[in-house]
Amino acid sequence: MKAVAFAADRHRNQRRKGADASPYINHPIEVANVLANEGEIADAIVLCAAVLHDTIEDTKTTADELAALFGPEVTAVVQEVTDDKSLEKHVRKQRQIEHAPHLSTEAKLVKLADKICNLRDMLASPPADWPVERKQAYFDWAAKVVAGVRGVHPGLEAVFNQLLARHAELR
Ligand code: ZN
Repeated sequence: MKAVAFAADRHRNQRRKGADASPYINHPIEVANVLANEGEIADAIVLCAAVLHDTIEDTKTTADELAALFGPEVTAVVQEVTDDKSLEKHVRKQRQIEHAPHLSTEAKLVKLADKICNLRDMLASPPADWPVERKQAYFDWAAKVVAGVRGVHPGLEAVFNQLLARHAELR
């Protein structure tokens, strides 16, 4: 709950990109919810890292701050799933594909649940200004990232596959 309170504070002025512009914090809470209730994961390191996964990337939060509050293990997982924002977007996206197979098990789980939530959001409330090609490219990219974490959790991978299939049906 300390992680939830911290993330809620850091993301307090942010909204999701979807047409419904939901509060940003809904997303990290949902990532942790997928892990806990669909993945049946009870590891506090994984669940805290899930709640905090976008704090370094998308807010002014530093790794030192997280380490002081949540310890080195949670912080290491968050750092593993944090994109280097000094790189151009297409480079960052390529890096995610390349790095996925080398992530720790904990980071792979967070990455997988993050992509599940993003695809669900994309199906339920896609960004209003995204043409169909851009949405398609997003699904294709997410599939490539998840290909790199396969084997980490067959149940959650099956959930991800179902979302890809739903998207393909809707095309
Ligand atoms: Zn995320």
